Amino acid sequence: PKPTEVTPAVIMKSYACQRRTPLKHHNSFLTEALEILAENAEFSENEGRSVAFRRSASVLKALPYVVRAMNELKDLPCLGEHSLRVIKEILEDGTSSEVESTRQSEQFQAMKALTGVFGVGARTADRWFREGLRSPEDLIRTGQKLNHAQQAGVQYYTDLNTPVTEKEAMVISDIVEKAVKAVLPGAIITLTGGFRRGKEVGHDVDFLITHPEEGAEERLMPKIVNWLEDQGLLLYQKTTRNSYLESKDGPARPPSNMDRFERCFSIFKLEQAQVNSDTRLEASSCNFGTTDGTQECHSGSSWRAVRVDLVVSPYSQFAFATLGWTGSKLFERELRRWAGQEKGMSLSSHALYDSKQQRYLHAISEEDIFAHLGLEYIPPSERNA
Ligand code: ATP
Ligand code: MN
Ligand code: MN
Repeated sequence: PKPTEVTPAVIMKSYACQRRTPLKHHNSFLTEALEILAENAEFSENEGRSVAFRRSASVLKALPYVVRAMNELKDLPCLGEHSLRVIKEILEDGTSSEVESTRQSEQFQAMKALTGVFGVGARTADRWFREGLRSPEDLIRTGQKLNHAQQAGVQYYTDLNTPVTEKEAMVISDIVEKAVKAVLPGAIITLTGGFRRGKEVGHDVDFLITHPEEGAEERLMPKIVNWLEDQGLLLYQKTTRNSYLESKDGPARPPSNMDRFERCFSIFKLEQAQVNSDTRLEASSCNFGTTDGTQECHSGSSWRAVRVDLVVSPYSQFAFATLGWTGSKLFERELRRWAGQEKGMSLSSHALYDSKQQRYLHAISEEDIFAHLGLEYIPPSERNA
């Protein structure tokens, strides 16, 4: 008798935006390793290499089973020679020597610590590394010249590297909602980013704000920021004006993946008491100085710093902005690649342009955009590519 098929037949599409990628998957032991190599490539600004590792990892995240042998990978797309070598080593030995030596290298650890400072990118971190600096403490000790963002980044380093919980995100949502409603009644606030995809923790909290009356949202951000500042809720903020109309970018296509919305990169001052009293059920445990740690969670302080991104979009671009700010980053990248390479279209967080028809395609929902792109709709919880 014929042996039964061991490997389930899986049809794996080659673009991440054609696939469903849940948050929790079966192959973290492989994807975490590949993502170390991706991160390391980003540190040396080798984008092609980094994307290749991220695409490999992403394919494994979409698999409905645990990979146990190399022959289970033979029909899968995006797995390059290097990734396959790393996977093979892990399947055979339990670990990959390349991944482990990267993880332990002084350069990787220093780059991780330095890029972990808000406002510091790979280029700056690399320059500092070559000057012998290894950590945020070194930046202070040697009196490095820091811009405002980086100063805040150093000052709140520990807090900003402590994952934001869902509960904290909900408290921040309430605050943002209150601020926006106070300065523009009728405005719509959407939680985007990782929390919209169902993540339980995040490095920040992302919001998109609009108003059904086109134009009512213009110059809204300074008003929101003033309101928050008056309440003493902001530790840092940098607001950037909307520059979409005056920009000379091609159709739907700002340079790189930066969009041109009015936006604010900020650091909120979040009262811990507010987080702890948020859930009515736990209100009784919220006594001061007791075992629940209410007063101890921020080295004796009653508040902590949290990164918050606010973006304002005109109503006509809201669907594109929502799709663009929900992520994941790889999912977004793959959507744009699909649009360009497979459809002759150009997608951004502002618009979708069809080059063949030479016109912009209208959308009022994310579903509309997937339909224009000829893609099956993928809900946010399955965009964790
Ligand atoms: P995390 O939990 O780490 O915050 P995340 O998926 O929310 O995960 P973010 O860095 O907050 O990651 O980004 C959220 C989304 O916003 C991503 O899809 C990203 O493409 C988009 N985004 C971030 N920065 C910009 C920017 N400057 N311009 C345009 N889009 C951006
Ligand atoms: Mn985020
Ligand atoms: Mn963000």
